[in-house]
Amino acid sequence: MTIIDKTAIREIVQESFAETKSNNFGAIGHPEEKIWARVDCGFAAGDDPLYPYYKKEIGDFFWTPAEAYKKFYPDAQAADKDLTVLSIVFASDDRTRELQRGQKKAPNFRWLYARNCFEKVEGELCGHIIERLAKAGIRAVAPDMSPQWGWRQSERFGLSCNWSHRHSAYIAGLGTWGLCDGMITRLGKAVRFTTLILETKLPADPRPYKDYHYWCLFYRTGKCDSCIKACPAGAIGKEGHNKDLCWEYIQDFKRSYIDSNALNADGPFGCGLCQGNVPCQTGVPKGLDDYDGQ
Ligand code: SF4
Ligand code: SF4
Repeated sequence: MTIIDKTAIREIVQESFAETKSNNFGAIGHPEEKIWARVDCGFAAGDDPLYPYYKKEIGDFFWTPAEAYKKFYPDAQAADKDLTVLSIVFASDDRTRELQRGQKKAPNFRWLYARNCFEKVEGELCGHIIERLAKAGIRAVAPDMSPQWGWRQSERFGLSCNWSHRHSAYIAGLGTWGLCDGMITRLGKAVRFTTLILETKLPADPRPYKDYHYWCLFYRTGKCDSCIKACPAGAIGKEGHNKDLCWEYIQDFKRSYIDSNALNADGPFGCGLCQGNVPCQTGVPKGLDDYDGQ
């Protein structure tokens, strides 16, 4: 039985975001500035057929929502059809976006720090949401907080995670992939994602697109090559994103930041110039004939 509706859950997400204390640049001297300016969310049905489809394509290690949920509650009776996936997108702040637009070789330090400490902010936000939902009578879990969450080798796709925030974001109507492999959302491509699985059944949000690349100008019009030009590693071409070249480039520049006290050397590093000076940085790019800007 649904106890609260999607509007109430959206409010919980926004209230929880407002109380996420780790969401600031204090560690690099700007405690008054937020790392993530805003969040948006979308809802997917736990039994959306795309979940078993991805499992078949990516590998048997890929979790369906019920499999992920039962990592936390092994005795739960809930099947996929009894669950709702809440996908959340975080938009980086305007100043970081502006600085990242001017970078040519390596990311601006603000961007790098935001990427490096994302898991801390994400974990705090998820904790607040889980707590508030529990008070409203809904059990929820964050799949990437499971000790069993992690990377596996997919025969078809190489290194792949057993739970994908981005695939859930696609299913929940939040965005589609761009040529560079980044996800283009209404809040742009300079974003990150998380997911919660709720033990309640809520209506899924519509997917306002027709395929995986629907909001990318290259795939729709053939007229954009901005991320190809922005990539300092030559890791993006008309055939897509070369993960190996991208990874090697990041390892190279990572060495010059490794001694920074503000960064966690074991945390994630990125480059993100393909999220910088590009028309999809802050929203769905202009020039798509059937996008209404909503
Ligand atoms: S920069 Fe252009 S080609 Fe690259 S992802 Fe964005 S819209 Fe697509
Ligand atoms: S993260 Fe950097 S190196 Fe990797 S594809 Fe994007 S711009 Fe290129």
